[in-house]
Amino acid sequence: MAVTHNLGFPRIGAGRELKFALENYWKGLSSQDDLKAEGARLRRQHWEHQTGLDFVPVGDFSYYDHILDMSFLLGNVPDRVRNISGTTLDNYFRVARGRSTVQSSCCSVHAGEMTKWFDTNYHYIVPEFTADTVFSLHASEFLAQLQEARRLGIATKPVIIGPVTYLWLGKSKDDCNRLSLLPRLLPIYRELLDKLAQEGIEWVQIDEPILVTELSPEWQAAVGMAYEALAINRPKILVAAYFGQLQENLDLACGLPVAGLHIDAINGRAEVDEIIRRLPEDKVLSLGVINGRNIWKTDLHATLEWLEPIHRALKERLWIAPSCSLLHVPVDLHSEQKLDPEIRSWLAFALQKLEELTILGKALNDGRVSVQEALVANSSAIEKRHTSHRVKNPGVRANVERLDAGWGRRAGSYEQRAAKQAAILGLPEFPTTTIGSFPQTAEIRETRSKFRRGELDQAAYSALMKREIERCVHEQDKLGLDVYVHGEAERNDMVEYFGEQLEGYAFSQFGWVQSYGSRCVKPPILFGDVSRPQAMTVEWTRYAQSLTNKPMKGMLTGPVTMLNWSFVRDDQPRAATCYQLALAIRGEVLDLEKAGIRIIQIDEAALREGLPLRRSQWHEYLQWAVEAFRITANGVKDETQIHTHMCYSEFNDIIHAIADMDADVITIETSRSDMELLDAFEDFKYPNEIGPGVYDIHSPNIPNTAEIIQLLRNAAQRIPASRLWVNPDCGLKTRSWEEVIPALRNMVEAAKALRSAN
Ligand code: GLN
Ligand code: ZN
Repeated sequence: MAVTHNLGFPRIGAGRELKFALENYWKGLSSQDDLKAEGARLRRQHWEHQTGLDFVPVGDFSYYDHILDMSFLLGNVPDRVRNISGTTLDNYFRVARGRSTVQSSCCSVHAGEMTKWFDTNYHYIVPEFTADTVFSLHASEFLAQLQEARRLGIATKPVIIGPVTYLWLGKSKDDCNRLSLLPRLLPIYRELLDKLAQEGIEWVQIDEPILVTELSPEWQAAVGMAYEALAINRPKILVAAYFGQLQENLDLACGLPVAGLHIDAINGRAEVDEIIRRLPEDKVLSLGVINGRNIWKTDLHATLEWLEPIHRALKERLWIAPSCSLLHVPVDLHSEQKLDPEIRSWLAFALQKLEELTILGKALNDGRVSVQEALVANSSAIEKRHTSHRVKNPGVRANVERLDAGWGRRAGSYEQRAAKQAAILGLPEFPTTTIGSFPQTAEIRETRSKFRRGELDQAAYSALMKREIERCVHEQDKLGLDVYVHGEAERNDMVEYFGEQLEGYAFSQFGWVQSYGSRCVKPPILFGDVSRPQAMTVEWTRYAQSLTNKPMKGMLTGPVTMLNWSFVRDDQPRAATCYQLALAIRGEVLDLEKAGIRIIQIDEAALREGLPLRRSQWHEYLQWAVEAFRITANGVKDETQIHTHMCYSEFNDIIHAIADMDADVITIETSRSDMELLDAFEDFKYPNEIGPGVYDIHSPNIPNTAEIIQLLRNAAQRIPASRLWVNPDCGLKTRSWEEVIPALRNMVEAAKALRSAN
């Protein structure tokens, strides 16, 4: 019998219930007991959805981030929260976001650094280490959840992050070698496994996704050593790797002294035969055969054709699962009653993916006839998508064919452009600006949703949005900023807003995916060839510019970010889709320029996260990604200043590619890492202008002027002051005006102080 199981379930809730429960608690509108009750209710609901599987993950639920949970489980709590009074959960939120609830604002600390989870759009809180870090087991919450599940009769399989991946994900605060902590860490894992054994747990899933990355010999050895130390009979360990191929780690993974191995058979299908040959015969092989990162239906027929012989060979040693945790896909397609029915028939969200898994399991165990009807329906949907006329647009294809390198080149060099731009823009030293959005107040959201529901007509909606733009301009006047933005009140989301105006995109209503903490994104579904029927942002931007003499930035989302933050088609290479996006957005850039906009910012917030996990594949990605940006941006005159913005970007390793984009100005995230990100600029003389973020917009804390001056002084050690801009880390949409005004006031004051000191 093939065994079915799941690696993780989305925890935010089909209606984002967890988000609202968290935010209520943080605002002081509910108690910690209310929050915990909602957590328990969601866990129960999620487990009940999965009862058709042979093993259900437990421990995948989290109030903020599962890596932060792991830090707390292992007693690795930063010193800065240790002596603050309050509950563990309050401290947990302090590490996550700088503070717990509004009432406990007395105890704000600096929030833990946040970074991308492998190549996904999920962000985790980076574990902090020093040479003195000691670990201790704090498993009561984890064990309580196991008991909760078992009381409900759930076939419980606890899930934890493995010790080597845990160390690898973290950061040493004092340059200690993280691997030197492994001998201290392993006994804690051992203690946890013993507790699980006492609980009568049969299998535990230990995630080691670093097995799909290029590991140095030390890290490879650490994986071997860790599992030697953890080798036990009970519970049985399933080591899970996902997001890519094992490649040179294949032998290592197959040889671990554990009871089973899970691999990503979507990305790593080519390796499966080799793994079957290498894996000792007493071990379980779990194949992740359903894509946990995308929303297309699985081709069940093709999957079975491939799996059936494997099942005959492995028999009960074969487990099947989604490729990775379903954290990265929305919960339930059935919620989508407004989605175009044709496109909807091509899709599967988390619950539908689990249904597919169950069908596959039944087909393997009881024969295809036992699920005949489901298989026929699936084949027909797959076939229809394949042949649909909605997917291909010959005009778009012809335009992409016409592309040549000249489209991506500016006329003048940066120096020539900078001189012309300076003459036109007349900006001071240390020019101040923001990244685009201003607070998205409840009224703004209300206006947008009324418009969407048809309760406001176009004229009334426009008038209200213009009032918001006026407010933003007025606030920027009062603050004395140098380069303005219109505030992006009309945008629900930086990708969806553009996707909605482009052909080739479809939208879900409830297709939320957790990005970090309570924040979710609703990635659009890019199903067909992309084109721009008409201008998208020109009217708002022109209006905003008409209110001020200061330069108003036109704000666009770049092609690579559109691609990386959408669920994209799997029927053509990503590069081909990206070039189509580039041409569509290039049209908008040129229209803005024609409308008299002197600065255009093209956000590439997600450029870095599209990097393949393996370095050997970076070059190819960067080549087409940078070229797509250049095609979008570089058709403008020398006088037009192009900005780009990137969040969470570490630049050290891709600085050449960033420079190749040839934007006149880049603004980047830096404040949480104390300008460490700027190390890249020490060795490499970045040729253009840079705005390192000086205000951490992911935390409610307000930076004071002295702190900002200090950050900028640090930056000025690496970048000539004449090329520095002063700006927040990212857009301000998630903050309130009460936070934004004093923070920006301090920021402007810091810029002024530096000008007069120079
Ligand atoms: N212009 C966008 C904003 O300000 C950029 C957001 C982002 O980089 N994530 O909201
Ligand atoms: Zn950003």
